[in-house]
Amino acid sequence: MSELAYPYEAPASQALFDRAAAVTPGGVNSPVRAFRAVGGTPRFMVSGTGPYLTDADGREYVDLVCSWGPMILGHSHPDVIAAVQDAVSRGTSFGTPGEGEVALAEEMTARVAPLEQVRLVSSGTEATMSAIRLARGFTQRTKVVKFAGCYHGHVDSLLAAAGSGVATFALPDTPGVTGAQAGDTIVLPYNDLDAVREAFRAHPGEIACVITEASPGNMGVVPPAEGFNQGLKDICSENGALYVSDEVMTGFRTSRAGWFGVDGVVPDLMTFGKVMGGGFPAAAFGGRADVMAHLAPAGPVYQAGTLSGNPVATAAGLAQLRLLDDAAYAKVDAVSKEIQGLVTGALTKEGVAHRLQTASNMFSVFFTDRPVRNYEDAKTQESFRFTAFFHSLLADGVYLPPSSFESWFVSTAHDERAVQRIADALPAAARAAAEATA
Ligand code: PLP
Repeated sequence: MSELAYPYEAPASQALFDRAAAVTPGGVNSPVRAFRAVGGTPRFMVSGTGPYLTDADGREYVDLVCSWGPMILGHSHPDVIAAVQDAVSRGTSFGTPGEGEVALAEEMTARVAPLEQVRLVSSGTEATMSAIRLARGFTQRTKVVKFAGCYHGHVDSLLAAAGSGVATFALPDTPGVTGAQAGDTIVLPYNDLDAVREAFRAHPGEIACVITEASPGNMGVVPPAEGFNQGLKDICSENGALYVSDEVMTGFRTSRAGWFGVDGVVPDLMTFGKVMGGGFPAAAFGGRADVMAHLAPAGPVYQAGTLSGNPVATAAGLAQLRLLDDAAYAKVDAVSKEIQGLVTGALTKEGVAHRLQTASNMFSVFFTDRPVRNYEDAKTQESFRFTAFFHSLLADGVYLPPSSFESWFVSTAHDERAVQRIADALPAAARAAAEATA
């Protein structure tokens, strides 16, 4: 891509990126942040308020990433900040049990019926890794079924054909994952129950669990087809395997009870992160009490963490969850719909073939005219159009995920002014997408 493709400079961000590249691989601590899929200078953000982020060059953006999902109340929500300040004033980590983690677990289990017990951890990756270990320990089986395009964090055995950054960079099987780890993972096409039945036929008594994103957002938004999740659950039950629903992205975002609140399919185990941490490193896995009873110290499957249930993180998460009532979700859903309408309206006006796909308030745009039901479909999109669209919006102060394989996120703080800024920026972005060439 030529220099001219980037409509403006970001000198302060570029200087920070140069410094970062000297001390950190690729200049970032999580690959997609480096903008490699879209080119240009990653914006180094210095502050966030409501629906806005401000970068090191002093430019303000309407944020449609929301820290990849967690900031569902917008940035610096006063009640969350107050809860954090209150917790910090009493200390930052004790390495003992504390009331905050009990209260957070109570809030979560009260919202999500199948969540009888939870164990708190510090990242979504840790949650899925631990859930898989527990599923293997409980069933005494080794194999795990996952779906191409689903991302469950950078757990060795779950990186095969993963979404998110792995999809963005079209990485082959990741070096560093052993043949044995990869060999215990069966990767199937998403939304294909026949493939799941066939895998159970081919590996009788060997499959510990099926893990799936409750509604995938890491290949762009590709919701489960009608009956798919229930079908997974039924096939697992018939074959003595566990159904693990990864709600790290959808949990407490797509409804009060996450995606479970939308489709009502009861998993054996679930994983959470993002929203439940209020912008801090807090995550969890949980589910059936009889399965969770296999976890140390109640049972033999070991799992632990120095910072698990951290008092500051749990205070932030609890404050955020307590603010997320039905009215808050109605607001996020409504503003999401409004922005979806603006995006698809602008692209249609310019004659740009696209599919807007949604999962309650999560949504993303695929530059293709065909429905996207799985990762193979997602890969047929014209990503070069996304690149042009992305940079035009960025130049006009709208911050999208820097990849066409990601969900977009909004918050209760996205008000009329923020929506108007998006509306003003969209016509030029749609034109840029229409004029883009591969
Ligand atoms: N599972 C899903 C569905 C995710 O979207 C992610 C992260 O985006 C993870 C797991 C991993 O979470 P973390 O990045 O906190 O390790």
